[in-house]
Amino acid sequence: MKSKKSIFSIAFILAVGAFVCYLVICLTEAGREYKATFFSMDTVMEITAYGKNAKSAISAATERISEIEKEMSVNDEGSDTYRINHSGGETVFVSEDTLLVLDKAITVSQMSDGALDITVFPVVQKWGFTTGNYGIPEKEEITSLLKSVDYKKIRIDESGAVITEEGMQVDFGALAKGSAADEAAKVLRENGVKSALLNLGGNICVVGTKPDGTDWNIAVKNPLSDGEYAGVLSISDKCAVTSGSYERFFEGADGEHYHHIIDPHTGYPADSDFVSVTVVCEEGLYADALSTALFVAGYERAADIWRTANDFEFVGILKDGSVVYTEGLKECFYTELFAICVEK
Ligand code: AMP
Ligand code: MG
Repeated sequence: MKSKKSIFSIAFILAVGAFVCYLVICLTEAGREYKATFFSMDTVMEITAYGKNAKSAISAATERISEIEKEMSVNDEGSDTYRINHSGGETVFVSEDTLLVLDKAITVSQMSDGALDITVFPVVQKWGFTTGNYGIPEKEEITSLLKSVDYKKIRIDESGAVITEEGMQVDFGALAKGSAADEAAKVLRENGVKSALLNLGGNICVVGTKPDGTDWNIAVKNPLSDGEYAGVLSISDKCAVTSGSYERFFEGADGEHYHHIIDPHTGYPADSDFVSVTVVCEEGLYADALSTALFVAGYERAADIWRTANDFEFVGILKDGSVVYTEGLKECFYTELFAICVEK
């Protein structure tokens, strides 16, 4: 018969063993990776999240993205955008999501002196960027379409209703993905996710740090050098959103490169000295709106907008191949290329 002492020893060993197993399971669950790749808002999206709730959190986040896609689609007849564009100047009631995006669009339009303008949509359409039926419009067509381009004519009344001028058309293509990234990240956090990487067609947002506690490393593409990176951003709980002339373009019969970011003042693809701009800040919606605005504004004006706003950072790749980055990124942007630090 076994002694009381040996029974106690066996029980103790079993208890320690069970506790160690429990710890191992907990650590494995905490570090477990789940990934979802899907198509939404006309682009490929990927969400990678860690932890025991990650799988269900990702499905909740993708549902939230679909909801925003439905609200902001330009083609779906019931969408907020469609109803604004077919309102004939009448008042339209839209969702909270659309109001938030609209409000940010107007703020960034004001900050950038109209470099971002969601009412430029008819011009974007005319160039064929919405259908892929590309073509260089006649000058007169552009002049005529520009008459209905003016974000200042969008009104939002006290009840949150939207009123646009008859003939005016909007599109949230420049900032809807940024908003979707914010909302998806919010859903992940609400579902207990502490570590995630969201890549919504190049609009990157990260939740927390990597599971090992270090910052996420986000590569900044170098559009001038196929497949190569201009540098790496080390960030946590932030978004990095890029706009660039390389993303969507066509070559005209004249051999010129015509890209999809239109200067609302001219109606032509923005003649920017940037080939790409990446905006870094906490809010994806703001970063997305700004990346488009700064691209149109060009380097000098972009630096002025940055100095005045004082609430975001950016990395730009210029046509001459040089890299510029703002002071706030000194400790988190790494590049081996010739780079200029923009100071206040
Ligand atoms: P992004 O890739 O975020 O810079 O957004 C570019 C998209 O926004 C284009 O494909 C157009 O649908 C739309 N867009 C182009 N130029 C402008 C502009 N100046 N302001 C607002 N939206 C624009
Ligand atoms: Mg944008």
